Amino acid sequence: MKPTHDSLIFWGTRGGLPAGSLTSASLGLATSCVELRLSDRHIILDAGSGISLFGQEINDDDTRPIDILIGHYHFDHLIGLPFFAPLFSNKKQIRIFLPNLDNNLGIETIDKLISPPLFPITRDMFSNTVSFHSFVPGETLNLSSEISIKSSLFPHPGQNCGYRICQSGINKLCYISDIENSDQNTLQDVVNFAKDSDHLIIDSSYNDEEIITKKGWGHLSLGDIKIIAKQIPETQIFLYHHDIFKSDDAIINDSAHILSECDNVRLAKQFDKIQLA
Ligand SMILES: [Zn+2]
Repeated sequence: MKPTHDSLIFWGTRGGLPAGSLTSASLGLATSCVELRLSDRHIILDAGSGISLFGQEINDDDTRPIDILIGHYHFDHLIGLPFFAPLFSNKKQIRIFLPNLDNNLGIETIDKLISPPLFPITRDMFSNTVSFHSFVPGETLNLSSEISIKSSLFPHPGQNCGYRICQSGINKLCYISDIENSDQNTLQDVVNFAKDSDHLIIDSSYNDEEIITKKGWGHLSLGDIKIIAKQIPETQIFLYHHDIFKSDDAIINDSAHILSECDNVRLAKQFDKIQLA
């Protein structure tokens, strides 16, 4: 099965919890998961509940390997993993890349989450075609001769690892979820990391009033995104990690100003499939 174009697919766009009323369903209820679908592989960013939807779509004829990159270990970014059906198929080659955060190994967190009493099975049940790879943020991950991924730490409780995916010398996609503007360099660090990328997917959980009472929660505001967007006008930015308690209308209303002022900003929407050049 060969696709005609590379594409970006949003499988989960919420933060926190895959909950919400039908008034939130248009932008999506599933938590963080994005796919970069290339001709030779699937690259998956985070394993929130959205990854289970990707697992339902992919069929046995698709022999492309799947590389999963985890940004951090809060459960909204991991809860889809044991529901990701390809992990139980020996027809799928899957690598899961785990950043060391706050001096902890990610595999220990995964073993806590996927074991009784939190979950009825352990990862021993996964196919032996699944492998786990720990790394230190700052390292470059070489997925193939053509694809390299730069990683970098960003502020978030427990830390978060952002990724910049480069294919044949072109920075296709930068993914930073979740991140807080917690020191004077944070936004400039994002600009420096993302500036040559075609696309940036980034935390935009709160509006400028909400962020005042959410210090230490680990997220950006729309005002933060505006500062970033103006410095990287060539990069298409997706507002991502929508707050679970906000309806589609509330998010659209909050975003109206930045969307009209910045041509390079749009809302991430679950199931949107963006064709890449
Ligand atoms: Zn999150």
